[in-house]
Amino acid sequence: MRIAILSRNPKLYSTRRLVEAGTALGHEIKVVDPLLCYMTIASQRPTIHYKGEELIGVDAIIPRIGASITFYGTAVVRQFEMMGIYSVNESVAISRSRDKLRSLQLLARKGIGLPVTGFAHSTKYTNDLMDLAGGAPLVIKLLEGTQGIGVVLAETSKAAESVIEAFRGLKENILVQEFIQEADGADIRCLVIGDKVVAAMKRQGKEGEFRSNLHRGGQASIARLTPEERSTATRAARIMGLNIAGVDLLRSNHGPVVMEVNSSPGLEGIETATGKDVAAMIIQFIEKQARPGRTKTRGK
Ligand code: ADP
Ligand code: GLU
Repeated sequence: MRIAILSRNPKLYSTRRLVEAGTALGHEIKVVDPLLCYMTIASQRPTIHYKGEELIGVDAIIPRIGASITFYGTAVVRQFEMMGIYSVNESVAISRSRDKLRSLQLLARKGIGLPVTGFAHSTKYTNDLMDLAGGAPLVIKLLEGTQGIGVVLAETSKAAESVIEAFRGLKENILVQEFIQEADGADIRCLVIGDKVVAAMKRQGKEGEFRSNLHRGGQASIARLTPEERSTATRAARIMGLNIAGVDLLRSNHGPVVMEVNSSPGLEGIETATGKDVAAMIIQFIEKQARPGRTKTRGK
């Protein structure tokens, strides 16, 4: 097959591994920078051009669209879908996963366990919002944050109030969340492909740190999941409409709760921690699934 990886940087670990695994399995793999694609939008024959030439003969794409290029990146994915080319994660599902509130609302509607979460636009009723989320200690998050930046633990209501005011002063959207203390500074990353968790790791924050992000000095190790954790992760991915997803769980007293579902999960941490060839599993999934015209949305 001819598979295009939509990625801005061929040197990234995940991109390199997908190229390696695809090539080893006998496919022709091309890394395409989505920001260098340009397109014609016409009713009869949608096309994609890349570096001066029409991009033809692609059987499937693997979108690795970074958060900062979601808007243009998903338009490129949608164009591939309009051409009937199989995308392992579809454009609507990627956009959906980038909107945290929409994602949490969707997951809640389907009964997935979530930390009690409040959000508001106005800071007028902050105290009431904090009460709704169960009162201090509370975790306050910037909606646009990544790598644990903009995730703050406020131990008291006074502290929570000041953090909320400061964030709102920056004109940032925030959410206020029940602090899952019993998670003990750890979370679980489940790598879902199709309807299976193919690899899972536990990330443990460094001493005295409630955030487990590897970027913040967290340590990763292989995780054994309970059946409930497995089914929560696969259901969350399915609800989001993602074939490939990184589902982040916290182990709470009331069972696994989902923090986030990522549509371009990084492969380095999870392959290193588990010793599994996740890249090859992604390619094998595409081998089984990709058929011309087999996009559910046809570019909605
Ligand atoms: P980011 O997307 O920036 O990584 P997260 O929402 O995943 O932000 O939060 C970063 C880390 O903080 C998580 O991996 C987890 O370890 C910890 N954390 C986040 N929310 C909570 C919570 N409600 N209770 C306990 N720990 C949390
Ligand atoms: N409104 C529907 C939903 O939230 C579907 C739309 C979508 O995500 O594009 O499930």
